[in-house]
Amino acid sequence: MGVYKLDEIAAIIVEGGNIVCIDCATDEEMNALTAEGIIEKSVLENDDTIYFCDRCKKRILA
Ligand SMILES: [Zn+2]
Repeated sequence: MGVYKLDEIAAIIVEGGNIVCIDCATDEEMNALTAEGIIEKSVLENDDTIYFCDRCKKRILA
């Protein structure tokens, strides 16, 4: 899907493949974001994979 609501984005994948939660993402990173770099909250709810932020190390929750 090409359209995302900001409040449906749980985390983003930044350069280098790091996963960054929305709280840790910089404005610059949000501006450079592509559809492939988005981890939606619905993915966290349906997937049995657990994601952690590479910056604050907190678990990323939906
Ligand atoms: Zn974080």
